[in-house]
Order: sequence, then structure tokens, then C-alpha cells
Amino acid sequence: MRFISTRGGEKNISSSKAIINGIAKDGGLYVPTSFPSIFEKLKNKTSLTYEEIAFKVIKEYFTDFNDDEIKLAINEAYKDRFNVELKNNFLELYHGPTSAFKDAALLFLPHIMKLSKEKLNVDGDIVILTATSGDTGKAALEGFSNIEGFKVMVYYPMSGVSSVQEMQMVTQEGNNLRVVGIRGNFDDAQKGVKEIFGDNEFKEDLIKSKILLSSANSINIGRLIPQIVYYFYGYLQLVNKQKIKFGNKINVVVPTGNFGNILASYYAREMGLPIARFICASNENNVLSDFFNEGIYDKRRELILTESPSMDILISSNLERLLFEASGRDCNEIKRLMEELSKNGIYKVNKNIKDGLKDFYGNYATKEDVYKAISDMYNKEGYLIDTHTAVAYAALNKYISETKDETPYLIASTANPYKFPRSVTKALELDFGNIDDFDIIDKLYEYTKVSVPDNLKGLKNKNVIHKNKCEINELKKSLLDFIGVKND
Ligand SMILES: *Cc1c(COP(=O)(O)O)cnc(C)c1O
Repeated sequence: MRFISTRGGEKNISSSKAIINGIAKDGGLYVPTSFPSIFEKLKNKTSLTYEEIAFKVIKEYFTDFNDDEIKLAINEAYKDRFNVELKNNFLELYHGPTSAFKDAALLFLPHIMKLSKEKLNVDGDIVILTATSGDTGKAALEGFSNIEGFKVMVYYPMSGVSSVQEMQMVTQEGNNLRVVGIRGNFDDAQKGVKEIFGDNEFKEDLIKSKILLSSANSINIGRLIPQIVYYFYGYLQLVNKQKIKFGNKINVVVPTGNFGNILASYYAREMGLPIARFICASNENNVLSDFFNEGIYDKRRELILTESPSMDILISSNLERLLFEASGRDCNEIKRLMEELSKNGIYKVNKNIKDGLKDFYGNYATKEDVYKAISDMYNKEGYLIDTHTAVAYAALNKYISETKDETPYLIASTANPYKFPRSVTKALELDFGNIDDFDIIDKLYEYTKVSVPDNLKGLKNKNVIHKNKCEINELKKSLLDFIGVKND
């Protein structure tokens, strides 16, 4: 398997190189040259474990490594640390060390990166640079903590993550990590990181100091491929629970921010998984739902801070990969569209691409929709969902009432409700008085008796290790400070 850039500047890149580079030199994203079909081979194999399915999916793409290497990486990533559970139609992806679905990818990425580094004989340290809207940062810190040959720098927007998310990050232990709060929002953070990655001269200078920059954002193909796994796993669980028969079509419903998760479901379909429609759910930052309705991507609007902060995003990077497929792999057109986006903040896709997107449906949820989804789910089903999953559930309801589509569905449930305790409490119309988020967790537990994951218990009393803050134009400076390199 080889990888190519969506913008045409790089062809014939090996998997280890694509993983280490993170983003292509032309600014494009790496995509596989083809999608191997594996679905039919899973017939009568519905009892495969998560790790076994992971192996079947991942080995198709990361062909620089032998079966034993891939198996070991999968084992080290997930064993006793991560699992996926299907509850009715909710695919709970948050049973991992950070209580959000990003663990599925970020527990695996460090191991495949380490293998790639060895394969390519990369000398010195790899520095993972990450802008986070809340969950990626913690998951990257957790995944890379104390992994030799790697350092991790996480930038998070001080206005834009929940206090639980912030505490999770600033208390993270590890001898190779730094977390910096940025006085700005997520797009400021992401833009700053992209600028560093786009600065080839700066990167060359670092290489002279034996430092290679790389990314753990969902633009990295090493992160995207492992996300395909849970769609196959979820589908087989639906079969096991006799909600569908093997071969039946399903719809997937995905609360979407940077478009990595839903893109992974599209890749799963390219590999044969029978998905009829992709329901792309946004919060009030509804750039994507406008896009799927009108064919115009227009980011020229204020970023709204919502109660699903991991989806507070105006530029969904991974959409570029979908456009690439929808256009029939027309890299010139993708390059043109992305240039328009960066120059004018808006682009319109042609009819060919629009046709290629016909199985995508976009809608969004307001704060009221989210609260109603949480309280309906809890009061009618006794099932507690978080604000991101609630966005998906609300968008699904809008889809069903519009279309009357009765296709069975799978909802990606992306975070544990205790990560957003204040919002969940408000949605349930509870009033615990003037207490902090950590005390709210305790109260919410007393009320619902839904168990609190270990990693969130006792978070309040942990030591704050990372106290660095910076302005939006100081990202490079704080990076140099961390890695101990002087910039002249
Ligand atoms: C990151 C995140 C999302 C959005 O996923 P994308 O792959 O960026 O679209 C949704 N929910 C939660 C809880 C997340 O952490």
C-alpha cells in the first residue's frame, strides 16, 4: 500500500513515511492509493474481538510492517486499556483512559509511529505538535507519555475546553510532555500549529538539531486508519444482537468536528461495510450542515463556544479527504478549493463533487436540542449521554422526521457524560447549587447511579503540573522553550 497527497504534490509514499510526515509537503493530506475490501471475509466471524478486527483492518494499510509488529502494536495499544460497547444503537467509544473516543486512535498512534521511526532510521526526537479542542490533547498525552524518542507539545484554547478536560491535561504525568494554554479559541490554536508545520525553513533548522516535527491531529493517517475498526466492530455487534442480518445496510450518525470520525466510517464503506447514509451532526457551528445542504463551504462566521466543545470547529480538515474521493480523485480541483478556503474563507463545489456527496446528510443541534436529547434519553430510557452524543441523537431525530427513513442506525457515542457534568446536570434540570464541576460529578452520580470512570475520580485532587500559558502569536516561542532550541 502506498499513499498520495490529496493535492497531487506527493505520490508513492510509504506508510511509515506518511505516518511520520503527518501532512504532505504541499499542504495536502495523505490518502491510501486504494481501499481493500474486507467485509465479505467477516461473514460468520461476528465474534471476532476488537483487537482481531483491528488487525484485519490495519494490516491492509500499514504494509511496511509485518504481522507480528502490527499485532504487538495493537496489543500494547488496547489490551486492558480500551474497549467498545454497543448499548442499543449507541456505540460507546469512550471506555479508555481519557473517557473519549479519541483513545481509539491515539492509543495506537504512538506504537505505529515508533515502528515507523525505527523503519526510517529517524535520528533524534520526534516532537508531536497538537492543537486540541479538548479531547485530542489528553489522549495524545496519555498515548505518548514516557514513550522513548518522542516529545509531546499540546496547545489548548483557554476559552473553549471544559474544566474537566483542562484538569485532565494539566495534571498529566510523563517525562516527555508539555501542555500550554493559549489565550484564544481552537481555530487560533489550530492555525498557529498549521503555520509552524507550513514553515519549511523552521523545520529544516530543527532537523539540524535532530528534531523532527510531527502531528497527532486527525490529519495523520496513522490516526485515521484505526478509527475504521470500530465501525466494523459495531456493525458485527448489531448482527450479534440480532438487530440486523449480515449484509443489511445501516446508517451511521456521527457528532462531527474535524471530520475524522465520520470520514473513518466512509473509509469503512469503501472497504465494503454496508452503510447507506452518513448523518453528519454539527453543533451551532454548523458549517458542515450548511455545506451538505448547499454545496458551499463558508467558514466566514464567528466561532460559537458551545457545550460540545470538541466540535467547536469552523475548518474541518478531514473533509478534504472526502472531497478528494467525491471528485473522483481530482487533486487539481482539491488544491484549488483549499486555496480558495485559505484565501477567501469560502468555496463552492462543482456538480460532480456534489453528486459524489449524495449519501451524506448534514444537520445540527442547538443548545435546546442537546438538552432535550439528554433529558429524553435519560427520562425515557434511563440512559445517560454526553453533550456531543446528544448532538448526534438530535440530528438523527431531525433526519428521521424529515425522511421517515427506517434503516437501522449506529450512533457514535463519543464521550462519557461525566466529562461534561455541568451541561448534563442543566439538561436534566437539576440544581446542585454553586459547586465546581468535580463536585457536580459526585452529585450527578448520587442522582443517576451511573458509574464514574476511574480516570475522572479524584481528578480534582491531582497535582497541576503544567502551568504554561501563551498568546496566539507565541506558539513557536513556547515550542522552542520546551525543546530547548535557540532560534536565531
Ligand atoms: C473530537 C471529538 C468529536 C469530533 O470528532 P471529529 O473526528 O473531530 O469529527 C466529537 N465528540 C467528541 C467527544 C470528541 O472528542
